[in-house]
Amino acid sequence: MVVADNIRCSHCGGPVEFKSGEIIATCTYCGFMTVIETGKAFSFEHSMLLNKFSEEQIEAVVQNWMRSGFLKPSDLARKSRILEKSLVYLPIWVVSVGVTGKYKGIFERIAPPIVKEGEIKKEYNWLVLARKAASFPTREYDIPLSGKVPYDFRKIEGFAKVLNSEVDKTEATELAKQQIDAHHRYLLQKDVDRIVEMAVELDMRQVVYLHAPVWFIEYEYKGKPYQLIIDGATGLALKGDIPAAKF
Ligand SMILES: [Zn+2]
Repeated sequence: MVVADNIRCSHCGGPVEFKSGEIIATCTYCGFMTVIETGKAFSFEHSMLLNKFSEEQIEAVVQNWMRSGFLKPSDLARKSRILEKSLVYLPIWVVSVGVTGKYKGIFERIAPPIVKEGEIKKEYNWLVLARKAASFPTREYDIPLSGKVPYDFRKIEGFAKVLNSEVDKTEATELAKQQIDAHHRYLLQKDVDRIVEMAVELDMRQVVYLHAPVWFIEYEYKGKPYQLIIDGATGLALKGDIPAAKF
């Protein structure tokens, strides 16, 4: 953690803490955001999703997860021990975009092959995690945007960690465009075997910056550690390592 004397929160004057590579910092004392490079206030709407679980309650969520699903060992809930549970507010850019993909291609699954044209239209709230080295399943995360409220540092639990952003809005938008484009090309290729022409058009609707509560759980089962990631807003497991079950 670096505390630069020359960067102070433009709202409360408190020292702004950041690590190398971080671009936007959230003030621990008042919740205002600072662009680290310039030391200026970050003038963009900042939202958050609320965490619904205490440290005790999240254990019950973990137990329920362990008890459900037929792929898990039947004694998983009884024989596991939680080694670590940490609540982290992850910085996320949500890029809302309408996408129209048009294609012309050759459908070769029948003989003789035919030329096929079509269009795929979709709406996305595309997530770009504002952290570069995080193994977080963004594509599996169906972010509950209806629960979005203005960011309020008083709603952040004392034991939780709020991560700063390592990706700015321009970069996030660019990343979202590339990923959506790639995703649409993949979808179009399911319709035809050989693409002759293809165009993906993006209609940007909105870009939102928010912090989302995520629980990172580490548990032990029969001497081995496993990881589980739970959405703090809904209690849904986003990703979970499951020990091999013996049948
Ligand atoms: Zn402040």
